[in-house]
Amino acid sequence: MDEIVIGNDRFEVFLEEKTIQKRIKELAAELHKEYRDRTPIFVGILNGAFPFLSDLVKNYDGLCEIEFMKLSSYGDAKISSGNVTIVKELEIDVTGEHLIIVEDIVDTGLSVKYIEGLLEKHKPASVCVVSLLLKPDSLKYNVKIDYIGFLIPSKFVIGYGLDYEQKYRNLRSIYALK
Ligand code: 5GP
Repeated sequence: MDEIVIGNDRFEVFLEEKTIQKRIKELAAELHKEYRDRTPIFVGILNGAFPFLSDLVKNYDGLCEIEFMKLSSYGDAKISSGNVTIVKELEIDVTGEHLIIVEDIVDTGLSVKYIEGLLEKHKPASVCVVSLLLKPDSLKYNVKIDYIGFLIPSKFVIGYGLDYEQKYRNLRSIYALK
């Protein structure tokens, strides 16, 4: 599929499946190099991060654990509401653990800032953030993203976990609004 039309919105292929998969292999190798002597906990941020988390851990050749958190979403809007709340907390004690937060996309940085604040209270040994996508021109919060798949322009994107009104998360490639 080269183009997706949703109402008056047209989306074109932005990152193809093979490009995404190649980069994820590299990220998994980088993470393994850093964490080979530890057993990190990958913390996937639902819903968007599920395909990325899945492919990342399948390419990670070491011991690890997998957990999930869920934040309130943008709703159906394409612009951040500026509000974020926790919908699903971590269900394990992460004191003294090495956490790898896995995000689909960092836009303003609010979600990552909020998650870091929450996790800090649980006194993990370390926290790092890996995001498949980062929109540098949209950043409003001072967050450090340790591992980035792709830097992208401030366009609305869908596919590979990213939704349009909760749909299209199952696309294998990422599409950008024209
Ligand atoms: P932030 O808190 O950094 O502003 O936004 C992070 C969250 O906003 C992401 O996890 C994602 O749910 C949503 N988001 C930001 N940009 C996009 C986008 O271009 N497409 C979609 N589908 N979601 C986005």
